[in-house]
Amino acid sequence: MIVAVPSETFPGERRVALTPQGVQALAKQSLHTHVQSGAGMAAGYPDEAYRDAGAVVVPQRDELFGAAEIIVQVRTLGANPAAGRQDLELFRAGQVLIGAADPLGDPSAARDIAATGATLFALELAPRITRAQSIDILSSMATIAGYKAMILAADRLPKLFPLLMTAAGTITPAKVLVLGAGVAGLQAIATAKRLGAVVSAYDVRPAAREQIESVGAKCVELDLATGDAEGQGGYAKALTEEQQVRQREQLADVVSGMDVVVTTAAIPGRPSPVLVTAAAVRRMAPGSVIIDLAAERGGNCELTIADQEVIDGGVTILGPTNLASAAPYHASAMYGRNIAAFLKLIVKEGKLAIDLEDEIVRETLVCRDGEVVNERIKQLLQ
Ligand code: NAD
Repeated sequence: MIVAVPSETFPGERRVALTPQGVQALAKQSLHTHVQSGAGMAAGYPDEAYRDAGAVVVPQRDELFGAAEIIVQVRTLGANPAAGRQDLELFRAGQVLIGAADPLGDPSAARDIAATGATLFALELAPRITRAQSIDILSSMATIAGYKAMILAADRLPKLFPLLMTAAGTITPAKVLVLGAGVAGLQAIATAKRLGAVVSAYDVRPAAREQIESVGAKCVELDLATGDAEGQGGYAKALTEEQQVRQREQLADVVSGMDVVVTTAAIPGRPSPVLVTAAAVRRMAPGSVIIDLAAERGGNCELTIADQEVIDGGVTILGPTNLASAAPYHASAMYGRNIAAFLKLIVKEGKLAIDLEDEIVRETLVCRDGEVVNERIKQLLQ
């Protein structure tokens, strides 16, 4: 069976869905990889490296799609709304498409893919269970985004992060706050600690406290009674309107004393909760930096504009929506390992074997035989 790796077409996207190492992993499953020429270049994987790993490099996209039984992408249509449409005419019935598809954010794209007869697996829908960890693209990409967010903050802050005692005086460490301590938040905390900052963090899920402390940050306590804030699959539930107001008020006091705030709070399939108001930003010292990793869904800071730099009262607010792509070499390596692990679930002895008894397969399957078959996505489309 042939697995195709097309070039990504989302503007600014530098990742590739499979690296040359991934090509070798697939070969062990009797899968042959075809790669569009130049697909890995921006991530640091030239055509030559793919050829050396045993892949066939194909110059034309239509030729690549035409020969493939399985297509792996970083961003399929739903996660690449404009340019992704051009691929619709290249899909054919029964062809399997695997990647990030944002079906919770843009379920209508699933309907368009279903109309082609192709089978779509959206890896974001994988359950957060131990067995699914190796295919968890959300975690692997959030790890990179959390790390990069803190590096970006350190770069933009007009201060240094660590305590320095020098002949030219003592530099006090930067004060960093991380809001939302999921995968990205914990990595942001760990990165800030490595850079020498004094770090505190807050998450609405009580279980996060131990994790915050385990990576070396101080846990911020708010008077909110969020004991039941953890919902299905370990994700947070939305707070009540009253809790949200109280949360913003209490966080304003904490935020005002910080040099850097990195926010990552998300509720699956919903707009990001606003945690930092414009009034809170205006209490921060000029030069302070906010990196809002929730910008794609509206942002955790009231002043965030996705992918733009906002400066308000001397405070810089950045809302980068594709930070994983800023470290494309390792992001692609991790993504490619997730893809190779997923393929093990649906390919047996070199043949497609879609087992709906397997909850990982069932929950990630979005379209099949011309229909949207995923219950969660069907509900969103009603
Ligand atoms: P996410 O991206 O959905 O959200 C980021 C964080 O924001 C979460 O920790 C959430 O609790 C927090 N948050 C939401 N609303 C908030 C608010 N109003 N104020 C403060 N914080 C708020 O989360 P994620 O990183 O994808 O992780 C989600 C869950 O899945 C976590 O419990 C994590 O431990 C778990 N997880 C499990 C596995 C696994 O077992 N395979 C893998 C990865 C993550």
